[in-house]
Amino acid sequence: MEKGHISVQTENIFPIIKKFLYSDQEIFLRELIANAVDATSKIKTLALKGEAEIDTDDLTIEIILNEADKTLTIKDKGIGMSEEEVKKYLNQVAFSSAQEFLEKYKEESSIIGHFGLGFYSAFMVAERVTVNTKSFKEEPAVIWSCEGDPAYTLESSEKTERGTEITLHIAEDSTEFLQKGRIDELLNKYCKFLPVEIQFGTKTETTYEGEGDDKEEKTTEVANIINNPKPAWKKSPSELTDEDYQSFYSELYPYSTPPLFWIHLNIDFPFNLTGILYFPKLSNNLEVQKNKIQLYSNQVFVTDDVKEIMPEFLTFLHGVIDSPDIPLNVSRSYLQSDQNVKKITTYITKKVADKLEELFKKEREAFEEKWENMGVFVRYGMYSDDKFYDRASKFALYKNHEDKYHTFEEYKEFIKDNQTDKNGKLVAIYSNNATEQASYIHAVKKYGYDVLVQDTMLDNHFYQKLEQKESDFSFVRVDSNTPDQIIDKDEKKESVLSEKDQTKVNEIFTSAINTPAATIELKALSPDDQPVVIVKPEFMRRMQEMSAFSGMNMGNMPEAYNVVVNTNHPIITDRLLKARKKQGELAKHLFSLALLSQNMLKGEDLSNFVNKSIELLE
Ligand code: ADP
Repeated sequence: MEKGHISVQTENIFPIIKKFLYSDQEIFLRELIANAVDATSKIKTLALKGEAEIDTDDLTIEIILNEADKTLTIKDKGIGMSEEEVKKYLNQVAFSSAQEFLEKYKEESSIIGHFGLGFYSAFMVAERVTVNTKSFKEEPAVIWSCEGDPAYTLESSEKTERGTEITLHIAEDSTEFLQKGRIDELLNKYCKFLPVEIQFGTKTETTYEGEGDDKEEKTTEVANIINNPKPAWKKSPSELTDEDYQSFYSELYPYSTPPLFWIHLNIDFPFNLTGILYFPKLSNNLEVQKNKIQLYSNQVFVTDDVKEIMPEFLTFLHGVIDSPDIPLNVSRSYLQSDQNVKKITTYITKKVADKLEELFKKEREAFEEKWENMGVFVRYGMYSDDKFYDRASKFALYKNHEDKYHTFEEYKEFIKDNQTDKNGKLVAIYSNNATEQASYIHAVKKYGYDVLVQDTMLDNHFYQKLEQKESDFSFVRVDSNTPDQIIDKDEKKESVLSEKDQTKVNEIFTSAINTPAATIELKALSPDDQPVVIVKPEFMRRMQEMSAFSGMNMGNMPEAYNVVVNTNHPIITDRLLKARKKQGELAKHLFSLALLSQNMLKGEDLSNFVNKSIELLE
């Protein structure tokens, strides 16, 4: 037996690694199996090139758990190592790559998926590691053994089969890795799509032989292969049907709602990337559906946290991205500025826009049906990414209260004649709650105006963005002004009341309405419009909502609204002014009615109003 020392600068790196990666020790299994896959791929390549005359029919990698011996073994039929190679690769290469990893890690602990620690990660969970290996070349097999300190031993081995068997003698504090359930879980997380078959134990398979009454049940023990070596994203789109894409989606996210559609990514220049991105059916709870994309590197699972790699709006998509060109052993914050990562996100953004545009052009009806579930995604993308904005403005849709969809250009054309204000600016009117704002919608429709549906709070931001991009276009909410002036066409009506009477009306309302939030305003509307209307000026309201939405503490902006008194309505011109007493009560009642229209009459006030109304009817 030969004894030796791994040449070290730092004394003992293993306890340090162990301590650092405390919460992520489980990655050892991925690292070791990835090495086994590499060794297997190498032998396959050599055989293909005719440089190794070997049988490559069965290259299954085996994971063997022995609870009694407290060992976990990873056994491959790859290229193996000669004695010389063991010394070179395990004592030097593996050791220095672990050291390099540690160096980086000390500076920046947010290395993606803790990728690249390699062989020495075994010492995070094992008190002793033995490597029994036989090279594909005519070389004697050897056993290398090490206890996690720089001392190692090397002796000859009886091993006759080609390949490497790495046995971990699991340490006292890591016995969780001796539980079958835990290993199942790790294999499912990290190895589900590795390109070489991975066996973990056996399973019972039931088959039937014979026909009818003679049918006999037969059970056999077969290898339990835990992975799918050829996942959908590695196949060519022409090989795949819609069902294949859908069943791959369920493989990734069991029990989820089927996706709306998908994009198959496949590029090998100027970077290498494959994958499938799915458009999920977005529901209201957006946060829950974010960040579900899985990142792989050559089919090895790295992470399902791709925040740093993808523009935020793309993290609403689901699916898989596989790219060996995303640098994984750098800090997360560095990634965003990495040139390759930038190119990759540009590529993905473009692909997503292409797909949507294609769908829009080819199948407008289907596109409109899906809009409900993906509109938020597109608007969010447009809001946060200028390039995407430019692309998506061709197919982003605006839905009105008649359930008709228009693109921006179509909509401009649609409202041009009736909704241009005195400055030549197009004004789109929206409502965010058809039930609560029914009386307002009704009122503007009398003027022949169209009303758009606003369905998320995000739209405030989106509208703002659109108003910046498109000059001469603005959005106003249906209750932001009185219907006659929601679009300012400079057509002012005259009040039938004299100056003096108007002052009187103002006085009555001012003393009757005692709310700091309310500003009284007299306006000469049409006699058909409501006598008193509550309006919330667009700008103020938006600011309020946006500060609430973003959770900013702007000292809780107080609620403010205008109480518009229609100086042409008969109740004002005749009833109110001619009433000899109880003018204040009438004004208050009209105000309450206006509040009721805006769903703002609540609690005590509402109850008083109801009682008062009953009294009046009696
Ligand atoms: P890396 O894989 O990044 O080179 P590792 O520390 O994981 O670093 O491994 C060091 C080297 O040890 C590998 O490059 C490879 O040559 C060799 N090696 C590790 N595991 C195996 C294996 N199962 N079969 C053959 N060679 C292996």
